[in-house]
Amino acid sequence: MPLYREKGVVLRSYKLGEADRIIVLLTQGRGKVRAVAKGVRRTKSKFGSRLEAASVVQLQLYEGRNLDIITQAERVESFSELRADFGRYGRAALLLEIVDSTIVEGESNPALFKMLTGALRELDRTGNNLVVPAFVAKLLVLEGVQPRVDSCVSCGSTENLATIQIHEGGVLCSNCPRGERLSTAARLALVDIFANRVRHVLETTPPAIAQELETLAARLVEQHTERRLRAPSVLYEQLNP
Ligand SMILES: [Zn+2]
Repeated sequence: MPLYREKGVVLRSYKLGEADRIIVLLTQGRGKVRAVAKGVRRTKSKFGSRLEAASVVQLQLYEGRNLDIITQAERVESFSELRADFGRYGRAALLLEIVDSTIVEGESNPALFKMLTGALRELDRTGNNLVVPAFVAKLLVLEGVQPRVDSCVSCGSTENLATIQIHEGGVLCSNCPRGERLSTAARLALVDIFANRVRHVLETTPPAIAQELETLAARLVEQHTERRLRAPSVLYEQLNP
């Protein structure tokens, strides 16, 4: 049986049989991988809680006929602050769901692995609610579907850009009035993110704009994947009961 080692972020897991789970991971070298953790649901499992969602783990696996089997798992990063705070954990869950719904198995994507671990670290450290929109913007660039935010997608004007129409691919000006309202501050934050000024955006964007961008980010992903995300409604119901 060919053995291999991989570092991965646990995206989610689900039950298999009596005691096992299938773990869905974003790995550093092999992209998205589904692998079996045998006996993980037993109380004395050698894996303990190491394969919980949002953990970064170093794994040893062997290649099975259908699914790979995890033989060893060591936690590299556990993000304890993130797990202790509902808002942070809810946003981490949203990141994991976004990655899981956007990428397919069998495509190596080391840039995405780096982005996801970086975003989880930032959430763990600061809980900044711009982490999700900044991540989504970068993900759309990686996927080649970056929305246009510096000129009107209909007439090309760079003046009075006031709305966004996701399925048309970006912002619109006041002479092409359709789509949803997008504040100038939110639009300029997107311009900055696309120009790699993420740190600046994380540190200077006011909370109301962050919230506007967070809502927009979830909708951008839903438009791209043609799938509804579950994590946003869970997050917002808990944060605004
Ligand atoms: Zn226009």
